[in-house]
Amino acid sequence: MKRLIRNASYLLAGNQVLENAFLGIDGDRIAFVSRECPEDFRADDVIEAKGYLVMPGLINTHTHLPMTILRSYADGYPFHTWLFDKIMPIEDRMDGDITYWSALLGIAEMIKSGTTDFVDMYFFSEQIAKAVEETKIRAQITRPITAGDHFNRVFDEAKRLIAQYHGASSGKITVSVSPHAVYTNTPQTLEKCARLAREHGLCIHTHISETKKENADCMAQYGTTPTGLMQDVGIFENRVIAAHCVYLNEADMDIFKRSGATVAHNPTSNLKLGNGVAPILKYQKAGINVSLGTDGTASNNNLNMLEEMHLAGLLLCGINEDPAVCQSADLIQMATKNGAKAQGIEDLGCIAPGCLADIILVSLKEPHMYPQHNIQNNLCFSAQAADVDTVIVGGEVLMEHRELKTIDYEKVIAEMDRCIARLF
Ligand SMILES: [Zn+2]
Repeated sequence: MKRLIRNASYLLAGNQVLENAFLGIDGDRIAFVSRECPEDFRADDVIEAKGYLVMPGLINTHTHLPMTILRSYADGYPFHTWLFDKIMPIEDRMDGDITYWSALLGIAEMIKSGTTDFVDMYFFSEQIAKAVEETKIRAQITRPITAGDHFNRVFDEAKRLIAQYHGASSGKITVSVSPHAVYTNTPQTLEKCARLAREHGLCIHTHISETKKENADCMAQYGTTPTGLMQDVGIFENRVIAAHCVYLNEADMDIFKRSGATVAHNPTSNLKLGNGVAPILKYQKAGINVSLGTDGTASNNNLNMLEEMHLAGLLLCGINEDPAVCQSADLIQMATKNGAKAQGIEDLGCIAPGCLADIILVSLKEPHMYPQHNIQNNLCFSAQAADVDTVIVGGEVLMEHRELKTIDYEKVIAEMDRCIARLF
């Protein structure tokens, strides 16, 4: 299948905008992007895109997708009360059916706000894999692992998920190994996770230093930081995606830098749960890869990556008392290329020949997008989710003119109503 996008503006690597040009897609990859369409390129489908910006799809590097069913269910509690007293008890009553429909609702929300790839952590993971496969979005999924009597069962589930789904859906699904956090694991269970990831060459997806209490408790129990403990048991011998990292010290940063680990910055969730603000300028200056995530909808309360770019930008300026530290090109890179790099997918997250065709078309016609002195600034500080018009993943159209192509949205809402009645 060959597609041609014509007459659009294109956001290229290196902060360049190419206006009034053509982009060809051959199979799941970008064939060319140029002012002229090669004469021998015979497109099966032509997308007329005058007045649209073509850019890489957004990559959400930390979420818990099925938490859509818990949106606005438990707001206004401190982190540990929120997690252990409010969220975990209701999660104990969730099942595969509820997880599947909640995941579909989340994928619909992500596509409608321009996300083409996400890094997830949730149980009943095979139901999430099914939703990902059906909707043709790209995702890294995982079964979160915690210590306790259930450990062997959960660890077996994680192993089964790897065997069954790593590389599935034409390579659009990858699987990571996910020790939930230091405070829900022991050094022994963390070590087992590190070894499992090493055996299969997989990413580790975890939470690190989300709260001051997490750091203080870890220090009291083990005499080291969460990063230090994970380093001691071999976690950082793998590619690590660590959500939050609100409180990393210099030694922690050094471990991140040396191992090539990624900080998945979740500014909305950190603010909303009262956990603070991650000093990402410091991390960026230290050469650490920083990507963006929404976290679950129980602590955000949406999956809109444009909003995360906006907020991350405002926080950078405000916390550092300097508007010059926030470049829109950097924010866009955090939401695209850095997210691909976090997962070790080199040919994703930019508009260039040979790269995977994960592309979104953003309308430049709306009042809040005029004029365009700087398209990148408009994108970070003016764009709305509803401006995302068309979404393509791996060369396949998942949304066209706001119409979802791989999701029966009416059915999802009807099934969600049934699931909500059952759960609450
Ligand atoms: Zn999380």
